[in-house]
Amino acid sequence: MKKIICLAFFASLLMATATPAMAQLKSTYKKALFIGAHPDDPETCAGGTMILMKQLGCDVVSVYLTAGESGIAGKSHDEAAAIRRVESADACAVMGVRSLWVGQIDGYAEVNLERYAQMKKIIEQEHPDVVFTHWPIDSHRDHRACSLLVYDAWRQLDHSFELYYFEAMTGMQSMNFTPDEYVDISTTVDLKHKAIMCHRTQEPQELIDDWHGPMEKMRGNEFQCRAAEAFVHQRWRTSEIVK
Ligand SMILES: [Zn+2]
Repeated sequence: MKKIICLAFFASLLMATATPAMAQLKSTYKKALFIGAHPDDPETCAGGTMILMKQLGCDVVSVYLTAGESGIAGKSHDEAAAIRRVESADACAVMGVRSLWVGQIDGYAEVNLERYAQMKKIIEQEHPDVVFTHWPIDSHRDHRACSLLVYDAWRQLDHSFELYYFEAMTGMQSMNFTPDEYVDISTTVDLKHKAIMCHRTQEPQELIDDWHGPMEKMRGNEFQCRAAEAFVHQRWRTSEIVK
């Protein structure tokens, strides 16, 4: 039987405006970071949850490891980044969330001591109580790098926030992803798609029709709702030694 955590309480929360569970959720999650490798990753992987959390009063930040420098054919890194920053700003405006840029380069994401320290510092400064990022087994090396950096920050910050992994284009990018948490996004999926459509250079309709739309429906079938996003919760033991 699938475990349903407080995030999945959203499904029932939407049926009432002032349930004890909603009060608990609001007090539990005051600030959430959604950290993706590229400008369209947070939106496509978890946009429905981002919007839902924002609607429930949580401070939601869309964090981009890179600015999509390698993501537009025929454009220089600087030209592509400028275009994609605008697209992300539009998407964040649709979702009503803030954006934050880490400053790595698309296709060249680094995992080293400096980058570990940088991610730790960013998360420490934002002081979230929940963070979502890429599932680490992924065909895109930037996604893998992003996941490792966030996981390391989570350890270095002594598990001071809850950590969840999201899936990206499962079957082509995310691999071996078996979710243990679901969020019913039936009420926010349309707005999520509107945000995705802001990524005009990334064939957004194809992203929805061929990948994330079917994933939302499949996860919805698993969770018995119209559309859902699925996550893996990072578990830990209090006796763990942080290194
Ligand atoms: Zn990506």
